[in-house]
Amino acid sequence: MPVEELIAKGTRLIKASQKILVFSGAGLSTESGIPDFRSPGGIWDRYDPSDFYFQKIISDQKAREKYWKMSSEYWEVMKNAKPNPAHLAIKKLEDMGKLLAIVTQNIDNLHQKAGNSPEKIIEIHGTAFSVICLNCGKVYDREEIEKRIRNGEKDPHCDTCSGPLKPATISFGQAMPEDKMAMAFKYAKECDLCIVLGSSLVVYPAASVPEHAASQGAKLMIINLTPTPLDAQADLVIHDSVSKVLGEMVGLE
Ligand code: ZN
Repeated sequence: MPVEELIAKGTRLIKASQKILVFSGAGLSTESGIPDFRSPGGIWDRYDPSDFYFQKIISDQKAREKYWKMSSEYWEVMKNAKPNPAHLAIKKLEDMGKLLAIVTQNIDNLHQKAGNSPEKIIEIHGTAFSVICLNCGKVYDREEIEKRIRNGEKDPHCDTCSGPLKPATISFGQAMPEDKMAMAFKYAKECDLCIVLGSSLVVYPAASVPEHAASQGAKLMIINLTPTPLDAQADLVIHDSVSKVLGEMVGLE
């Protein structure tokens, strides 16, 4: 079926839905110029992910220094990134009163920058825009800590308790936030349409959210450049650019 017909089918699915759950992944961010960690030439081609396991970050100063070096490099790209037409289309879904929630694997604040309400955004992998003290839990604005790093600190520590600091993202080997996962599953049960955007649905437990939505009776739409393990269960699958496809689907000018 030509992509225009697939898009028209998507528009009909959206029109027929009242409670849409958007599930977004790295493919949405790459179209805003943020590189995917996992893609060739990405961060993991230049750094070894096993250096960044949570237990190592907690216990090893050298690992933290390396982590901050990698992370600060990434931060410079992320802090200036702008929402693309797919983010704006999701904002329009909220304006239309159809958006139940966004469950995102992304850490880049782009749904907030697009204007979606913060209470509708569930960041299951955390956010790069905050930094947290691993000892007392104090939260800092990311740019405030990055300034300290630019001024020469290699392993910044908490000014209240002297505990080590880390961006408020979920690292390898770190537990998923239970409250956010519970909310994500609640919305998966409640939605009547789940739209997967730019996720290959291979990272668990995150990928079980759209799986749960489909098993609870919601329609499932997947827009991703490459096939996913849930394609066979979906009502509509489009292997194309998320910004092009979703932008057209919700009629962005
Ligand atoms: Zn502290």
